[in-house]
Amino acid sequence: MLRLEEVEVAYGRVAALRGISLEVREGELVSLIGANGAGKSTTLKTVSGLLKPAAGRVTWDGQPIAGLSPREILRRGIAHCPEGRRVFPHLSVRENLMMGALLRRDAAGIAQDLDAMYARFPRLQERAGQAAGTLSGGEQQMLAIARALMSRPRLVMFDEPSLGLAPALVQQVFEIVQEVRRQGLMVLMVEQNALAALGLCDRAYLLETGRVVRAGSGPALMASADVREAYLGGR
Ligand code: ATP
Repeated sequence: MLRLEEVEVAYGRVAALRGISLEVREGELVSLIGANGAGKSTTLKTVSGLLKPAAGRVTWDGQPIAGLSPREILRRGIAHCPEGRRVFPHLSVRENLMMGALLRRDAAGIAQDLDAMYARFPRLQERAGQAAGTLSGGEQQMLAIARALMSRPRLVMFDEPSLGLAPALVQQVFEIVQEVRRQGLMVLMVEQNALAALGLCDRAYLLETGRVVRAGSGPALMASADVREAYLGGR
């Protein structure tokens, strides 16, 4: 289980997280929603070790992980699928996928997972030898998701997986997110599309200016008046 307790993060003098507490329990899909600048991406970057908290605790299965390197955190089973896809544009699709498995030593398992990704994302197989930078936005998003899964994580964090995608692809991305959860992985997802995020998740947290201002089940947040007003287009 992932737990953040009173986590504070600042960029220089700018406070981005002002005491965030949240949990992702075994088998859960948890969504973070909130306006631009609320601190959602910063929360994911803190969990994955890209940012170090100034205060508070981050624990994974009860062990403190704040301050560990991103590599060590990935090795412990937490994968981050960052905003804006961030594939390696000059590497091939296959090389990008193998980068996801960089810390693994089980060659047979890696080969098996690569086949599984190609079966799940046939487009990536068709383009396996092609430079990732030449893929469409949607294909790059699939690649970023598949690359994160190649590490065989126990928890995968998705930052705005639907951003900039055509509606049909948005649907497909959310189906993949649900599929990942059904396979028993924990998921922590940041999503601008609050309606979709609340519909999919077990629980959600609403962030405002670096704080959690509401927490609850998807339906509970969907029913809450302030969430409806701010994010779901009125009552
Ligand atoms: P968005 O959906 O717009 O990405 P967010 O909820 O993910 O929003 P964050 O990106 O976590 O928000 O940003 C939280 C706060 O930290 C914002 O006030 C933002 O301006 C600030 N911030 C983010 N990255 C940096 C940075 N590299 N340097 C300085 N300030 C930053």
